[in-house]
Amino acid sequence: MKILQVSAELFPLLKTGGLADVAGALPRALLAAGQDVRVLLPGFPAIRDGVADAVQVAELEAPWGERARLRLGRIGTEGGPDLRAYWIDAPWLYDRPGNPYEDAQRQPYQDNHRRFALLGFAAARIAHGLDPGWQPQVLHAHDWHAALAPAYMAFSPRRGPQRVGSVFTVHNLAYQGLFAPWHFADLGLPAAAWGIDGLEYHGQLSFMKGGLGFADRITTVSPTYAREIQTPEQGCGLDGLLRRRAGVLSGILNGVDDQVWNPATDALLPHPFEPGQLAGKMRCKAALQTQLGLAPEALAPLFVVVSRLTEQKGLHLVLGGLDALLAQGGQLALLGSGDAWLEQAFRERAAAAPRSVSVTLGYNEPLAHRLFGAGDVTLVPSLFEPCGLTQMYGLKYGSLPLVHRVGGLADTVVDATLEDMADGRATGFCFETFDAEGFARALRRAFALYRRPADWDAVRASAMGRPADWRGAAARYLDIYAQALA
Ligand code: ADP
Repeated sequence: MKILQVSAELFPLLKTGGLADVAGALPRALLAAGQDVRVLLPGFPAIRDGVADAVQVAELEAPWGERARLRLGRIGTEGGPDLRAYWIDAPWLYDRPGNPYEDAQRQPYQDNHRRFALLGFAAARIAHGLDPGWQPQVLHAHDWHAALAPAYMAFSPRRGPQRVGSVFTVHNLAYQGLFAPWHFADLGLPAAAWGIDGLEYHGQLSFMKGGLGFADRITTVSPTYAREIQTPEQGCGLDGLLRRRAGVLSGILNGVDDQVWNPATDALLPHPFEPGQLAGKMRCKAALQTQLGLAPEALAPLFVVVSRLTEQKGLHLVLGGLDALLAQGGQLALLGSGDAWLEQAFRERAAAAPRSVSVTLGYNEPLAHRLFGAGDVTLVPSLFEPCGLTQMYGLKYGSLPLVHRVGGLADTVVDATLEDMADGRATGFCFETFDAEGFARALRRAFALYRRPADWDAVRASAMGRPADWRGAAARYLDIYAQALA
């Protein structure tokens, strides 16, 4: 099947969160399954520089009149075929330093509606034959950045004889791409695309509704989140639309990219390890304690956090529970960046107890790997979590996840209750109520289990053995593509 994946980020070229991991791994899993898959990305500097041998395949005129070029090159893949990648050459929109979405003051760029409308527009044009050398059968758009693609396809006058299916995946419903209504005029869509059945959302322009309203199939990144977003509590105002489209909505759990996240082969770890052979993990812990200036105590349970520092991630619970964590003999190592108040609060805690608390602000891929490699527990107390990848990395690296039981966290972590431990199913610690007490109780369970090494080892073996490769997820997406084509 010929498939075009459309996203704003793609690991390893450009990553701000889990979207990039998925956008990097899914095409490669589809290639490995023998599919003819290509990707389309905005021409951000990191994309432009990371796609090799790019040649111009077409020109296109944006709906507001500017002319851009479509280029096609390849992204090398270790141990597999190259991935063919289109990128949109429009430097006045994309050639800006730093974050792809925000300026240096962390404000969204004023012209984001144009920057990402062009992504959806170019995707729809490719779907309808812009590249004479290749046309997809299915277009798969990810998140609000690419969400106008299905809308452009639905309203395109240039549709060819072949019907092209469209699939839209929600990676996080909280980020919707909302803009002032007058920007609708820039999009070149007919008036019929406005209104409650179109892109209007309480008087604003919603990119997300382009995907939710017009794609043939909608997916999100875990079965539980697929149910949650149909409720008023978690629907971010779009639950009504999602309930109406429930028949074409499904949840497919993300996988873990074994090429990138495998403790037996991870070159970013100082020592490799694997299930049943954990000497390397202990050495990773000792090395990290030294690197971060933590007390070199092999038996102090090490809790790690690798996260965007935003309200979604529930990190105020970690701050609130930190005294209890330290009082029970634990250590905390956090890597993250985001909201200024959270950065400041964690920085102060590290300054007050540098031998027990380490805080690294910023984005640091090698350190993220070393934290999972060294950690005993990975904290993911998110208020909501569409899928969550860090708990899956924690599982695979034997750093047992401690999570709020929502979304993909509920689908990937089994609480260490006596019965689930007896059945060999337990893989971590879950709490139900999103408050200090719920978090504190889960923390106490983690400490209690840690004091029972044989049980800890058994739970850790189950966690590390949990199957999580992309092959299964890719097969499920292929089913969805077939439905979108039908
Ligand atoms: P989200 O997409 O909401 O940020 P996920 O858990 O789905 O959350 O994915 C987060 C991804 O970003 C993971 O790959 C995680 O390791 C990575 N990550 C988050 N913060 C950092 C950071 N400060 N440095 C390096 N990697 C990070």
